[in-house]
This record gives sequence, structure tokens and C-alpha cells, in this order.
Amino acid sequence: MNILVIKASANSLFKDYKKASGTPPQSINALAAATPDSHYLTVWDETSMGPADPSVWPDLVAIFMSTPDAYRGYELGDYFRNQGVPVVFGGLHATFVPDETLQHADAIMLGEAENLWPTLLKDFELGYLDKRYESSTPPAMETIKPLPHQTMDLSAYGEFGMVMVSRGCKFKCEYCAVHRFFPTFRYRPVGEVVDEIRNSGLQYLELHADNLMADKDYAMELFQAIKPLGINWMAEATLNFAEHPELLEAAAESGLFSLLVGLETPAQSALDASGKRFMRVDRAKENIARLHEYQIAVDSAMLFGFDQHGPEIFEETLDFVDEIELDTCTSAILTPFPGTLLYERLENEGRLLTKDWSMYDCSHAVFKPALMSAQELEEGADWFHQKYNSLGRSAKRKVTRARNLGLMNSLYF
Ligand code: SF4
Repeated sequence: MNILVIKASANSLFKDYKKASGTPPQSINALAAATPDSHYLTVWDETSMGPADPSVWPDLVAIFMSTPDAYRGYELGDYFRNQGVPVVFGGLHATFVPDETLQHADAIMLGEAENLWPTLLKDFELGYLDKRYESSTPPAMETIKPLPHQTMDLSAYGEFGMVMVSRGCKFKCEYCAVHRFFPTFRYRPVGEVVDEIRNSGLQYLELHADNLMADKDYAMELFQAIKPLGINWMAEATLNFAEHPELLEAAAESGLFSLLVGLETPAQSALDASGKRFMRVDRAKENIARLHEYQIAVDSAMLFGFDQHGPEIFEETLDFVDEIELDTCTSAILTPFPGTLLYERLENEGRLLTKDWSMYDCSHAVFKPALMSAQELEEGADWFHQKYNSLGRSAKRKVTRARNLGLMNSLYF
């Protein structure tokens, strides 16, 4: 059977953000890995490859998309169904907005796809599809297969590959969908991660996890195991990891060169209210300095629009990122993605301003903020973006980065 798997991506600022900050999408590549060899598969990532080729004539299409790309996904679904090709949707948006997605699909997969996809394919070969495929048990990490690295297009992602290490998170931040989509927090066996890295031939990669250092014993075992591979890797973890000197040293020696930390805001009260009390703003500068001792770059998004944020937050955040010497920073408007606790709360409070998913791109205020207007929030976020990227500030950051990361390393960022 010919199967076309698409990661839908609309032409938008969100697409640029994915290219600038992302690595190849886990969703479509994990589905490709879970597809039995008896099928012929074409994987199309619209972020890196542009619009999917409408002349491809598959027997079945599977579409994944983020919420801001939902209408592009629906457009693709409608197109292929009009051609008589059955369409299946999976991923976060389909899971959390199932009824709407089903209007453009023959079937949807709710939750992690690995357990559902082989059953769906068997049903399809027998001539029928259920509307919904879901499982009460997430796939065991021992059964997760290596990604198809040889066929992944890395050109849009700075030639960075990705190897999956864990799924889920032990924390439950209000604005985050990770703990709602992945019902349990679990790691792959270290040996399988090491084998996949070695066989992939990747030199630069993301060790994909939503919080890599959550289990410190696992992290230490992994770092010791990958050290001989001589790779350069980046990851996501909480900044508190820097408070564990042995773990930090092991991470650096195994090739960690850039860490994405979810610092989010200088307003501790906002972090506390969002379930992120463990992130301590007053220790941020010290912890970033610890990472800089190993020339590890530190990146974080700064989010605007928490209920504790008044109009002063934009200037306060600008001073904060300068003060703590954050190496790179992406600013975004807090966005209540469907499936998050934040979405549910704001909907219950009647504060959602729109359900036009194309506006859920982190550059629009889609809810009524508590301490300012939606217009003030958008203008303030824009003001921060302009100031942060001004020529003067960018030049100053280059000098600071060269001091903290070394001249050669700093040129990468
Ligand atoms: S924001 Fe980070 S720490 Fe919080 S639940 Fe999501 S992945 Fe976990």
C-alpha cells in the first residue's frame, strides 16, 4: 500500500519559528518508524519541503499538524478526500479537537500513534476504518523503533537531527499540553538510544525529551554511555539541572552545547500560579553562569500574558534577559492551546476571544488578559521583540556570548 504522511504547515510566522527553533517533527517520523515494512511510505514535512505535492497518488493519507496549522491540515484532508483517497489525522490538535477534525477525515488517532497505527492499517486493508482509534495504554518505550534518519530532510533545521529519549513530563504546568497528551512520563532504554545515535551517523542532534534531566540517575547513565560517541547535542531541561555539578559535568563532557530551559518569565508569581514553582527566578542568573562555565548556551522563550502580568512586564523582561545573560530568547504571547488546563480555565471563565486556530500562533492575544487589554499585550510583545532584536542589543549580546561561550561557539548562535 502507498501511504503519504504529511506534517501540515501553513505559511505563517509560526512556520518561521519552527524552522528557527525546531528539529524534524517527532509525529510524522515516529509514525514512519511504526509503519510495517510491507508498505511504501512517503513522508512530507511541509515546514522543510514546502506544500505537499498534490500529484502524489497514495492509497491512504495521514496528516499531523499543530493548532495554528489546523486549517492547512483540514485543507489537505478535504483535497485528498475529494480525490477519493481516505484520510487519517493524528497528533495533538486532532486529539484535543476531535469532532472538528473528523469533519475533514475518515478516521482520527487519539493520543500516541504507535499502538494505533498498525491496527488502523490492518482495518484499512480489510476494507473498513473506525472513526476513532484510541488506546488506554501508551506504547511501551522498549517497542519504540528508531526514526528513519536516512530519509529525514534536515535542511530546514540547520542539519540537526533528533533522537527520541523520553515522552511526557512529571510536572503539570497549566499552559503545557505535554502532560495531557502523554499520560505517563517514561524513558527509552539507554542502550536503544545509544544504538540509534550510533547507527544514525548524526553528529549534531537534539536528544528529544520534554525534560531530559527529570530522572537524574537515568540522565547520568545516558551521558556516560554517549560520551564515547563524540557527538554534539542539545536538549530541553529545567534550569535547576545546573545545581547538580556532577550531572552538569557529565552532560558537558558528553557533548551538550545548548540547553533550552523553560524560564518563561521573570514574574515568580506567574510561574507559581502556573504550576512551575520549581523554577526559581532568583537563581536563574547563577544557574546560567554555571552552564556558561562549560560554554553551554542557554535558550529560553519569554512568555507574555500570564494573569500576573501588567503592562510593566515587557520592560521588566527585557532587563531580566540582559541581566541573566540569556544567550538566545524567543518571545511569545501565552497561548492557550486546546488540551491544556489553561485553555479549559479560560474557556470556563469566558475569556477566550476566538477559536480561529490560525490566530493561535503565539503572536496574537487570543484571550482576554487579566491586567491589561489584548491590544496592550500584542503591542507590548511586539515592543519587546523590536527592542530585543535592535542593532545595539544584538551587538552587545554578541560580545557577551563570545565571553560566555568562546568566540567560535558563539558564532553558531
Ligand atoms: S512546561 Fe516543561 S516542565 Fe512544565 S509540564 Fe510542560 S514539559 Fe513539563
